[in-house]
Amino acid sequence: MMEKDVDVNKAVSQHLEMEKFFTGFTVKAKDAPPEPNQKKDAAAVAKTVAELEKIADEVRQCRKCNLGSLRTNAVPGEGSPNARILFVGEGPGADEDAQGRPFVGRAGQLLDKIIIACGLKRSDVFIANILKCRPPENRDPRPDEIINCFPYLQRQIELINPDIIVALGAPAARTLLNTNKPIGQLRGQFHEYYAGLGAPPVKVMPTYHTAYLLRNYSKETRQRVWEDMKKVLTELGLLIPETPKR
Ligand code: URA
Repeated sequence: MMEKDVDVNKAVSQHLEMEKFFTGFTVKAKDAPPEPNQKKDAAAVAKTVAELEKIADEVRQCRKCNLGSLRTNAVPGEGSPNARILFVGEGPGADEDAQGRPFVGRAGQLLDKIIIACGLKRSDVFIANILKCRPPENRDPRPDEIINCFPYLQRQIELINPDIIVALGAPAARTLLNTNKPIGQLRGQFHEYYAGLGAPPVKVMPTYHTAYLLRNYSKETRQRVWEDMKKVLTELGLLIPETPKR
């Protein structure tokens, strides 16, 4: 058998196993977690929604760097204005660029499964990226692009005021934490994001990006992500769904 055939078979079986791993989690009805979003009153929520929409409009018109002229759609981010968890990825891929929505491709489908495995819905959380426009060929974000784009995310964080930011992958974790450490060293522990002078720090849990999980599937990588998410749920006082027996 050719090397290429072996890789395809491996990729397919890894994908099928990964598909199974983050499904079948159950939250027992009698101990169902408290409503995840109870932080702001109706007026505060309406104000946050309006401000987030203003940022989204600015992002859609942004031409601060070259990526603005290469995009099909900007991807400002989406979700609950009252989210307790904010997921931050690296930047839009082809599917996100086509739809103008974050995490809607394969990596996004896996993120959806993780959110559901946590006993939550996608609409409970907010999902955004460090970069709001797709880098060509999904290359890594460049420092000047991050410098131009990060202020949009900083304003989103300030408005949403999440309890925890889950940083998906090295670029998100490094940007939020202003460090160059590898993701393997950062993940699994809470760090702090400083929004600005006087503002209380926001807890950050770095974990592997779902695209990395799809590429580097192993029992260890998927287990590490689940361990990281369990720490997030515990910190929020939410129930940890039972892991299905397999
Ligand atoms: N990867 C990211 O980092 N962000 C997305 O929105 C999709 C894939």
